[in-house]
Amino acid sequence: SYLTRLRLTEPHLKSFLHVSEDAVLQQAHRLDQMIASSEELGPLAGVLVAVKDNICTADMPSTGGSRVLEGYLPPFDATAVRKIKDLGGIVVGKTNLDEFGMGSTTEASAFQVTANPWDISRVPGGSSGGSAAAVSARQCVVSLGSDTGGSVRLPASFCGVVGLKPTYGRVSRYGLMAYASSLDVIGCFGSSVADTGILLHAISGHDRLDATSSNREVPDFASRFDSVDLLESKPLKGLRVGLIRETLDDGVDNGVISVIRGAASHLEELGCSVTEISLPSFSLGLPAYYILASSESSSNLSRYDGVRYGNQVAADELNSLYGDSRAKGFGPEVKRRILTGTYALSAGYYDAYYKRAQQVRTMIRKSFKAALDENDILISPAAPSAAYKIGEKKDDPLAMYAGDIMTVNVNLAGLPALVLPCGFVEGGAAGLPVGLQMIGAGFDEENLLKVGHIFE
Ligand code: GLN
Repeated sequence: SYLTRLRLTEPHLKSFLHVSEDAVLQQAHRLDQMIASSEELGPLAGVLVAVKDNICTADMPSTGGSRVLEGYLPPFDATAVRKIKDLGGIVVGKTNLDEFGMGSTTEASAFQVTANPWDISRVPGGSSGGSAAAVSARQCVVSLGSDTGGSVRLPASFCGVVGLKPTYGRVSRYGLMAYASSLDVIGCFGSSVADTGILLHAISGHDRLDATSSNREVPDFASRFDSVDLLESKPLKGLRVGLIRETLDDGVDNGVISVIRGAASHLEELGCSVTEISLPSFSLGLPAYYILASSESSSNLSRYDGVRYGNQVAADELNSLYGDSRAKGFGPEVKRRILTGTYALSAGYYDAYYKRAQQVRTMIRKSFKAALDENDILISPAAPSAAYKIGEKKDDPLAMYAGDIMTVNVNLAGLPALVLPCGFVEGGAAGLPVGLQMIGAGFDEENLLKVGHIFE
């Protein structure tokens, strides 16, 4: 039934860069056999999972949304993908994204633009727009994305689904194409908090192939839901919630602000005490993020030289082979990041840009730590607006970057955050969804998921 739906909706949405119906049917057949012979089924048996195309899959092409990797077939599965398969999950295909995760709309994909299922003249958000649209349109059950500065949370908000950015280190990055290694995490999309928590549980944990993956024990995130009494009048009594004042400032749509205030009142009805708090360094997150992310990407992307991976341009000497392969392979946004990052890292400017941005990062990390000592969770909008029209910001990179204001700080601080639909603003035929962002203390996904489950 998912495949039927996928066939009907995909021509309008273009969420996928690659779909493998054969693989799905084969797996379903195998599942039938297992059931017939009473073999034990894994907890994800038969669950269709879509995977962002910057996450490597051994049996499907993995392009990262870039011409530089067109036709690339990795010889291995990313750890997160391997874990999903080991538990019986079925990878249905690879989803569209902004090239290497650089963008906020999927318009920077080298191959196609994905449409928002709520209104196909609008963007689904990015960079994991394909994964968010696929869950939103029920083309799959859950999906994987990656979040360097908001790429799971922004599209979750625009497409009206649940998106989770785990704590840095909770999920192995092995097999995730590196964008900015100190910020990158693999994240999850689902149509409910429970589904999202089950997927997170499946992919979490230490991996000897990623030195930054954490040794911390992985709680069974979804089992916490069993102890929740949803009929109790104040199931969240005593929970301290900080609403970040700076996220409701000028530049945020009034409709979004009133939906978020409504969500805050709903949390109060559930028993939380909500107070407005101030994070004065909040607005510094954006410039610090774009300096650090671009710097790291300029270094990470040096591996695409036309020799080691993917597409190679014919040339009669080595330097032009490198140069031409990169000039043809990378799109304009990726080139912009490489230039910005190389500039920020260059000898004469390093102290003024990269070093300062690192100092700001430390400041932001400390201010979040202090706020989370006083509060159990922090809340904010996930984006300053609902989904906008395709093309609206495509030629204005700074306007596009400004749309990441709500999410980038969380990556700089390495914290987990959950985005879930909490209301609508006017637009499209049926209104446009607005996402609430809940930020938790490091490695406390369990609490975020519990609160999210009760809230939804
Ligand atoms: N939009 C942000 C950027 O372009 C975030 C992307 C991401 O999280 N991968 O860098």
